[in-house]
Amino acid sequence: MDNNIWEENVKGLSKSRYVAGLQCPRMLYYIVHNPTELPEPNAFDRYQMEQGTFAGKYAANFFKNAARIPEFPIDFALQKTQEAIRAGKPHIMEAAFTHENVHVKVDVLRRLDNGKFDIIEIKSKTKVEPTHWDDLAIQMYVLQQNGLEINAAYIFHLNKEYRHPDGDLFLLADQTEKVFSKLKEVPQNIKQMTEILARIEPPEQDIGPQCSRPYKCGLRDECWQHIPELSIFNIPRYRGKWDFYRQGIIELDHVPEDFIGTGSQMPFIESYRTKKPKVDKSGLNKFMGLLKEPLYFMDFETIQLAVPKYNGTKPWQQLTVQWSVHKLTGNGEPEHFEFIHTEKSDPREPFIKSLLDMLGDTGSIIVWWVPFESGRLKEIADAFPQYQPQIASVLARIWEPYEASNKYYCDWRFKGSNSLKNVLPVMVPGLSYDPLEIQEGGTAMAEYARMLGLPGGPEKQQIRQNLLEYCKLDTLAMVEIHRALEEFL
Ligand code: SF4
Repeated sequence: MDNNIWEENVKGLSKSRYVAGLQCPRMLYYIVHNPTELPEPNAFDRYQMEQGTFAGKYAANFFKNAARIPEFPIDFALQKTQEAIRAGKPHIMEAAFTHENVHVKVDVLRRLDNGKFDIIEIKSKTKVEPTHWDDLAIQMYVLQQNGLEINAAYIFHLNKEYRHPDGDLFLLADQTEKVFSKLKEVPQNIKQMTEILARIEPPEQDIGPQCSRPYKCGLRDECWQHIPELSIFNIPRYRGKWDFYRQGIIELDHVPEDFIGTGSQMPFIESYRTKKPKVDKSGLNKFMGLLKEPLYFMDFETIQLAVPKYNGTKPWQQLTVQWSVHKLTGNGEPEHFEFIHTEKSDPREPFIKSLLDMLGDTGSIIVWWVPFESGRLKEIADAFPQYQPQIASVLARIWEPYEASNKYYCDWRFKGSNSLKNVLPVMVPGLSYDPLEIQEGGTAMAEYARMLGLPGGPEKQQIRQNLLEYCKLDTLAMVEIHRALEEFL
């Protein structure tokens, strides 16, 4: 579980700093010495953190009669932990330990009858990830240095098979073997990280796969300055980009003539070399010939709850809360329809009822990214079987412009991504998200959650309006891109 007050006040290494240091020494240095130079988390990151914190607090309820150690001040937390251990408490939440330069808080320290201890780390993820082993290994090391004998190490994480309200919301996953195998690396890693933190200047570090794995680093603007806006990193899904980089090939102009790519890689390179879109007219013609009028351009917005609260939902499920549809017949002006659920009740049934009423029985339904919209529709069909026949008919009518832009129309100015936000400014330069308060889906989710938390009044109304405008532009953008594609036929 994240522990911000502790993290802000400890000097030296902590659990999260140790994990960051393993990802990149320069990142570690900035986190400790120059935190103000790191970008603030965006609205979506903050929303996810809030959900994670809520799940963590929820998980704590599973450990009954636990002693809870106060977060701060640190010396007091250390003292209270020792008192709880001496008192023989079976569970100690947020147990604090320190050894030399390293300070850790254990989410749950469980005492066994034989005097040994289990370490339990609470995570709001739905599976164990490799970084969790390092997180547990540093805790195990510090506890051992404090004279505790460790029996086992666990991750207590959300269960992706859970369906509200039945089953186990959290699973206790034994990671002891993995953690013991990581343990032997810990002293050397601590030594190296301590040396890095003792420097006057941040260490030099070349960019690499570590910039986005396991976590996206906030220092990209600083470290990636030598990479032009368009580079080999824009070649779509190209796995050899780091090989190119190591060979000094960064600019697209320097990609070898005999480069052979797969999928959309070659059309992208060819479009870049000719500075012209690469269009497969006959493929596009055939593909667009599948459309049947009227055309419905459709987009959903969702919200994710770490701890589910509606019947049959699972942790972090994408719950549909809003739709926008533009209906286009012939060369006329598109008609706009929309829905947003503004109450705290289950949004799924009002959402699907209103949508099915609007979509009718005929005409192609155009969504930008089929797996997302069709996935949500299938989930609703599973949860509300009475709508299955109608949803099946909607699914059969879906058509994907993303596929068109991916397969039959490639433009180097999309920068290697077929996301709506990359395609729109190229295909329809006059239409932009810039004037909108909400400009992308993550912010929409965070703002939707904020709106639900408000009792009413002008601010709530304003957020509702912002959300409607954002979703409306998504479907209007698809209408205009569709028209632009037609001009190539
Ligand atoms: S951007 Fe990459 S190199 Fe720079 S600090 Fe982050 S991970 Fe390290």
